[in-house]
Parts: sequence; C-alpha cells; structure tokens
Amino acid sequence: MTGTALITGITGQDGYYLSRLLLEKGYRVVGLVPPERQGSVVKLGDLADRVDIYTVDLRDSQALRQAVEQLQPQEIYNLAAPSFVPASWDDPLGTLDLVTGTATRLLTAIREVGLSTRFYQASSSEIFGQVQESPQSVETPFRPKNPYGAAKLHAHWTMVHQREHHGLFACSGILYNHESPRRPPQFVTRKVSLAAASIKLGRSQKLQMGNLSARRDWGYAGDYVDAMWRMLQGDTPEDYVIGTGQLHSVEDLVATAFACVDLDWQQYVEVDTTLVRRDEHFQLVADPTKAKTQLNWQPQVSFDVLIERMVQTDLARLQSDAEV
Ligand code: NAP
Repeated sequence: MTGTALITGITGQDGYYLSRLLLEKGYRVVGLVPPERQGSVVKLGDLADRVDIYTVDLRDSQALRQAVEQLQPQEIYNLAAPSFVPASWDDPLGTLDLVTGTATRLLTAIREVGLSTRFYQASSSEIFGQVQESPQSVETPFRPKNPYGAAKLHAHWTMVHQREHHGLFACSGILYNHESPRRPPQFVTRKVSLAAASIKLGRSQKLQMGNLSARRDWGYAGDYVDAMWRMLQGDTPEDYVIGTGQLHSVEDLVATAFACVDLDWQQYVEVDTTLVRRDEHFQLVADPTKAKTQLNWQPQVSFDVLIERMVQTDLARLQSDAEV
C-alpha cells in the first residue's frame, strides 16, 4: 500500500527512520507536529524538505479530526511520546495524557470520519515490566513497573478495544529497546557511545554508570520501523512483539563501545550507585517468532555493528564539532 502516511513523533529517532522508509516506498509523508515543537523539525535533517509538516495540537480532538479528514491518510503511525522512561516518574499524568490521549483521539477521528485508515500504535516492552516468564510474547501477562509502562499499556488496551468494538485496522507493536546514532544522549547506549568517542579524543576522562549487570534486548531502529510498516500491510490487524531475542548487559555494551576505539573500558568506567534505577530490567527479552513467521521480519543489524555505527558517528560528530 502507498498513499499518505501520517506520523506523530516524526521528529524523534523512529520518526526519522520511518519517514525515510516510507519515502523510499513512494508514500507522501506528513508529520503531525504541535506548534510548540516546530523547532524539532530540523532534527529530520536531509528529510526535512521531503516530508510535509501539519501543525496541530495532539491534545485537540477537533483539530486532529480535521487533520485526518483533510489529509485522508491510508496509514497513521502514532509515535509521539515522552520516551525517556525515568522522566515519566516526574510527570505520570502528562505521560498518560499524551500517550493514551493521542491514540484515543486519532482512533476516534478515523472512526468518525469514516475512513479505513490503518493505525500503528507504538507500544513498548515496558508494558511487560515485572516479568514472570522469559522471553515474552504477545501472550505474556502485562505488569508495568513505571508510569511510562502504565501509560503505554493503557494506550495498548484502548487500541485493542477500538479494534474489537469498532472493527478498525489497528496494530500494536510491542517494541524492545532500539537504538541508532539518532538516539538522544540521555539513553544509555548513546551515553556510552558518546563517552567512548569523547574519551578517545581526550575530551573527557571518565564515564559514570549505574548497574552494569542490567540486561537489555537492544536492536537497530532502522530494522524496527520496517516491522511497523509490515504490520500495516497484513491481511488482519494484529499485535506483535519486536526485538532481537538476545540479551546484552550494560557491561557488554560498555566493553563493545570502548573496544570500537581500542580502549579498555575498565580504565575509564566508574560505578555510581546513585545512577542505579529501581525499575531496572534484567529479563526483558523478546520472543519475535510471530513477527518472523507472519511478517517475514527479522533484525538485520547485529548488536556489535549497531554499537560500532553509534561510536563511529559520535567520533565523526565530535571531530567536526557537529551537534551531538
Ligand atoms: P524519541 O526519539 O524520543 O521521539 C519521541 C517523539 O515524540 C519526538 O518527535 C518528540 O518530539 C515527540 N514528543 C515527545 N514529547 C511530546 C509531547 N509532550 N507532545 C508531543 N510530542 C512529543 O522516541 P523514539 O525512540 O523515536 O520512539 C518512538 C515511539 O516508540 C515512542 O512512542 C516510544 O515511546 C516508543 N518506543 C520506543 C522504543 C525505543 O527503544 N526507541 C521502544 C519501545 C517503544 P520532539 O522531537 O519535539 O522532542
């Protein structure tokens, strides 16, 4: 399917890779960007001139309905969220409002305008939270451990209810951590890639880390947006778990990143217990079998290649004094 695709959160990491994928496939791509976030459009870099930006407040039901009516999209990808999980403790209500509210308003708009638009909801492995089984599939019970996970779970159920009650074509992608050189610096993979590059160049000396034993299922964002698109091309709307199925510890991450610049991480990394997260995960790992069999999807970029790309990009950015 091609046509018009609307994306909320287009200015984020996934928004960039998804826009690039959809443009390659011949879609018209329109980003729904709130008035106060227009400044973020520059983050789209080389794609900024190739997508259309529609200015709209995501909290305004009427305005969103108008956007959907006017643009008549074939597909909507709802990616907007305050995605840095620890920050959700500071604003649980704001997180819930944006995450669940935007999903509900967009699904309602599709239904009220009477379109057959296909809808993708950016769900998260954080909805599994305190897991009782590993790996996790769409059959695994949900027990979120933080306000972000709770908000994503509320949005997930809202989407399921709309699909079952109103027959909408809506899918939830339960995505595990996915990274890229476009990951914002507060996320651990990027914090580490930036530090390795910066220490290599002699611009900093030490890296402070929390729990080195925490383990994550990390994949490449470019692979994960392909899964989003595949979900909306299916015969039936279903939910999918998307991840690599492999766990790596934070220590693996640090060792791999520093090895990319020929440094021994143990000389530079210090543990700071104040950075240890109380909602840390150790067994959050995907069972992506359903995506492999039904969507013919599998990750293409390995953990080592992903980290190498991130470190090399940060090295180049620092050397050219580009914005990091
Ligand atoms: P990201 O880089 O943080 O991008 C988030 C997007 O949401 C940006 O466009 C951001 O706008 C926008 N946004 C943030 N707060 C907003 C607000 N209050 N009002 C309106 N827009 C707001 O996140 P991502 O990595 O691309 O992730 C995309 C989606 O997938 C998110 O929903 C995230 O929760 C979910 N997800 C991500 C991962 C992952 O590992 N990356 C895993 C599972 C699920 P600005 O650019 O202006 O900040």
